[in-house]
Amino acid sequence: MSENIPVNLYTIQKPLIGETAQNKRLTPLTRDPRNDVRHVMIRYKGKLPYRPGQSVGILMPGIDPLTGKPHKLRLYSVASVSVGDLGDSQTVSLCVVRHFWDNPKTGEKKIPGFTSNYLCDLKVGDCVTMTGPVGRHFLLPEDFKKRDLVFTATGTGIAPYRGMLKEMFEAGFQGRVWLYFGVQYQDVVLYDDEFETYRKHKNFFYVKAISREEKNPIPDVVPTRENRMYVQVKLCQDKKLLSEVLAKPDSMVYLCGLKGMEQGIFPVLDQIGRELKIQGTLVEKLKAEQRLRVEVY
Ligand code: NAP
Repeated sequence: MSENIPVNLYTIQKPLIGETAQNKRLTPLTRDPRNDVRHVMIRYKGKLPYRPGQSVGILMPGIDPLTGKPHKLRLYSVASVSVGDLGDSQTVSLCVVRHFWDNPKTGEKKIPGFTSNYLCDLKVGDCVTMTGPVGRHFLLPEDFKKRDLVFTATGTGIAPYRGMLKEMFEAGFQGRVWLYFGVQYQDVVLYDDEFETYRKHKNFFYVKAISREEKNPIPDVVPTRENRMYVQVKLCQDKKLLSEVLAKPDSMVYLCGLKGMEQGIFPVLDQIGRELKIQGTLVEKLKAEQRLRVEVY
């Protein structure tokens, strides 16, 4: 039961101090800093019993010059399996994009986000202060093995699925799983090699939505910014198949990534619900039956 999953073993007052074991760029150097995404592996001593779908907090050292206070805790989804990339339960990995923001008050543009840039710049051996693990919502259900699961991700929101899929296939997953993954360019599809190898499993379906290289052919049905190809368009194109999947009472839908993706995906789910002639909306039904998991920020 998810209530038994440990959370908050480490806090701001009592953090876990780890050390950077790896900082690997996942995207080509030819892409601009906005597409600089890192796989950061942190080694620790002691116990940090996390599951894919949980997050850890990162406490960047120093004072935030904007507030004059210590930097705020930032949460990052775990991108590794429960035993870590090295299999010894002594590492946790994160998938981090170098974040930039615009300040509407000052008009200043492309301001580097503190914690994401700090993580992207870590060198092997650098100390990292962590809290957590956090979250019991975005987990696989205990009885996942025979369920049909629809995973949707935008950008670094792919993090939890990397660990989940590995654990699912290692555990002899017998249901079907779809991974709908949206990124800007074909060469910034994070962990693409790993996901491609899962195609050997006949119950794995991998669908990429490459927003800046593919056009949305159904903008009247699923509107997207500048008619870009987004995951919700791919979901809509697979509507017939997904209605069969989502008609099953134990199938589940997961969303992870950019805040706002749910506003594009929910209407497509509701279209599917109308075809299924369910009472009310499909999103409400999935929520009520705890079959919908959303992690967007
Ligand atoms: P990104 O590169 O900005 O976007 C990924 C893809 O999503 C792009 O193809 C983008 O298209 C598309 N997209 C933009 N708006 C969309 C919408 N409304 N609906 C569907 N697709 C949309 O993503 P990112 O920079 O990696 O950011 C990922 C987000 O996930 C961040 O906000 C992060 O905080 C959050 N997140 C991260 C983690 C983690 O552990 N790292 C975990 C959970 C959530 P265009 O840009 O071409 O329009």
